[in-house]
Amino acid sequence: MSRVWNFSAGPAAIPQEVLERAQREMLDWNGSGASVMEQSHRGKRFIDMAAQAEFDLRSLLAVPDDYAVLFLQGGATQQFAQIPMNLAGEGDSADYIVSGHWSAKAVSEAGPYVRVNVAASGEPDDFLKLPARADWQLDPRAAYVHYTPNETIHGVEFHDIPDVGEVPLVADMSSNILSEPLDVSRFGLIYAGAQKNIGPSGLLVMIIRRDLLLRTSRSMARIFRFAEQAANDSMLNTPNTWGWYLAGLTFQWLHAQGGLVAMGERNRAKAALLYRTIDDSDGYYRNPIDPSARSRMNVRFTLHDAALDAAFLEESEAVGLLALKGHKALGGMRASLYNAVPLEAVEALTQFMGDFATRHG
Ligand SMILES: *Cc1c(COP(=O)(O)O)cnc(C)c1O
Repeated sequence: MSRVWNFSAGPAAIPQEVLERAQREMLDWNGSGASVMEQSHRGKRFIDMAAQAEFDLRSLLAVPDDYAVLFLQGGATQQFAQIPMNLAGEGDSADYIVSGHWSAKAVSEAGPYVRVNVAASGEPDDFLKLPARADWQLDPRAAYVHYTPNETIHGVEFHDIPDVGEVPLVADMSSNILSEPLDVSRFGLIYAGAQKNIGPSGLLVMIIRRDLLLRTSRSMARIFRFAEQAANDSMLNTPNTWGWYLAGLTFQWLHAQGGLVAMGERNRAKAALLYRTIDDSDGYYRNPIDPSARSRMNVRFTLHDAALDAAFLEESEAVGLLALKGHKALGGMRASLYNAVPLEAVEALTQFMGDFATRHG
């Protein structure tokens, strides 16, 4: 079995060069005679590696100095709760933009900690397009505005950063972080589970404007407090050492690829090729999303006859195209085109889609 082209939505493909380097370093990392997973996070080797990973991430995204970078655990889902715990005081409200599955989940998990105002929702349009900015009911006194720039399941993406005035903008970038250059200064807080575009699961990366670290006076355990994590270099307790290390290797890989300008161009080209193939198939394949909101990272499509789905999945897997099955809530297909998925993979997929349509008429 050789490596396949992996279109998994998450946990997702990791660059082959990163995996090969981790393999080479598995038994003897950095001259230590042990793997990175087998040594103290308080040791100099680990601390140096962790600082380098943070430095490389900061330089990729040009993170301004007044932002802290945290490497946490608990995934994006834990942050749905921990963000309101840290950014909202008792009785505060926060605005949420609901554009699909994950932003809806963020609303439901925030409920115990903040008064949620759903300022806009794409639900009446079945999340096939984004709620028009002019219709958002934002509250200037909100503790923050939360949105999900890329909806991994619904396949809709914001192609610009919404202007929400002085209220801090909070973004769940789990499935689009590092996919193109980003103006971090427009955000109060950015967070991302690592398992889509950064590395393995079990790691969460957060970029938070430092003035927000001390927002709340609410009582909570230290482990939940962003300010404590920042003051302790995200090592209040044992971090995910393996995840941090692999994320660091991925950041180095991204620099070697030419950084986020180069990745942004590649990601646009990959998505354009797949959407063109779908749109030019005379209805054999269909993507239902408003073209202005189509995701570059997660491309949904259906076949003209759902009775062909099983054959499509079986035959694609047989030629080494992995994980094209759509999310169970929506059916159909989904191809996730994260950074670690090269243009070649999309070329192989579009070639297969053409062949399949010819063979199955
Ligand atoms: C995958 C995903 C999540 C959930 O991440 P966990 O780390 O499993 O909690 C949340 N938001 C978005 C946008 C995602 O893609």
